[in-house]
Amino acid sequence: MTRNNQLIRYLRRNIPAFECVPGCHDCCGPVTASSEEMAWLPVKTGAEHATALAGLNCPHLGQTGCQVYAERPLICRVFGTTPRLACPRGKRPAAMISPQIEQQIERYFAATRQVLV
Ligand code: SF4
Ligand code: SF4
Repeated sequence: MTRNNQLIRYLRRNIPAFECVPGCHDCCGPVTASSEEMAWLPVKTGAEHATALAGLNCPHLGQTGCQVYAERPLICRVFGTTPRLACPRGKRPAAMISPQIEQQIERYFAATRQVLV
C-alpha cells in the first residue's frame, strides 16, 4: 500500500461516524476526490457522469443511497463532522472531528490533484 493510501486509511479511521436521517442524501452532489480515492471507486461512463452532473448529483448515488459507501471519498466522510461543513439536517457525531485530523485532511487535499468523482 502506498504512503498516500495509508494516509487515507488513517484519516478515514479518525473521522468520527454518526447516524444520518434515515434515507437522507441531501449532502450528496458533485464531489471531488484524489486519484488514490478514485482508484477504489467503480469507473462510470462519460454519459453517467454527464447525467449526474446535469442534475447536480453524484454518479454513485443510487435509489437506496450511496452505492460506494465503504469506499466513499474523504469529503463525504468529513461532511457533518466539522462546523465548516455542518449537516443541514442537524446531525453530527457526539465529538466533532479533531482539529489535527481536519488539518491533515486539508493538507492532503491541497497536496493532491482533486478530480470530479
Ligand atoms: S450528513 Fe446530514 S444532510 Fe448529509 S446525508 Fe446525513 S443527515 Fe443528510
Ligand atoms: S460518493 Fe456516495 S456519499 Fe459521496 S456524494 Fe457520492 S453518493 Fe454521496
